[in-house]
Amino acid sequence: MAGIDLITFVIFVMLFISYFFERSFEAAHKELAKNKKIQQKYITALKEASITDPLTQLYNRRHLDMMFHEKFLKAKANNSYFAFFILDIDKFKDYNDTYGHIAGDTALKAVADVLKDSMRREADSVFRLGGEEFAGILMAESEEKIVRQIETIRTNIEKCAIEHSCSPFGLITVSIGVCILNDLEEENLDKMYKIADSALYEAKTHGRNQIRVGSISTL
Ligand code: GH3
Ligand code: MG
Ligand code: MG
Repeated sequence: MAGIDLITFVIFVMLFISYFFERSFEAAHKELAKNKKIQQKYITALKEASITDPLTQLYNRRHLDMMFHEKFLKAKANNSYFAFFILDIDKFKDYNDTYGHIAGDTALKAVADVLKDSMRREADSVFRLGGEEFAGILMAESEEKIVRQIETIRTNIEKCAIEHSCSPFGLITVSIGVCILNDLEEENLDKMYKIADSALYEAKTHGRNQIRVGSISTL
């Protein structure tokens, strides 16, 4: 009888130990899953921060380099015109000198908001290159449509009516240089960038507050 009691006792102890371990494993597993979720959340936030400009919340230059290829292939697959533009705020140093750096930051955010609002398609993207320079990738069925969309960006920035007493227009304005491709054989951000940049230079030297489309013959 004493033998049976001992066996029952041993079984009971073993059951208790196995129950205890099972619960411990379960708790450890739950904790691990929770930590993994938190870690994943931090990784996603870090990834997002590494491609976002903190002031304007637009994508940054690094993301432009990463996205260009994907956008180019999309335009090619859709047989669309593919455009890259650079937008630069006019006389922005004078604006900062007159109204202060904080007002300058507010103006940068206003320009970024117009850019965000002007994106018509999922495939369109805008970026802050740095300082008072922004860029965009657009695609459409015709060159005219692209030029119209960019002209709307320029006029919508004018319509924000941000006073700029040192500007000949009396307001914050922007100059924009554009490069548009329709024969999408060769993909080259550097060349498109150069063409858009020299078109921007032309816009600046021809009085600012305007858009200029660069020649693609050199591409
Ligand atoms: P232009 O019409 O030829 O483009 O003249 P600009 O004065 O706009 O060009 P410039 O390159 O001489 O000056 C750019 C100014 O942008 C210089 C700097 O004060 C200002 N800037 C650059 N980054 C920032 C920023 O993050 N915040 C603010 N508030 N100002 C900035
Ligand atoms: Mg500039
Ligand atoms: Mg400028």
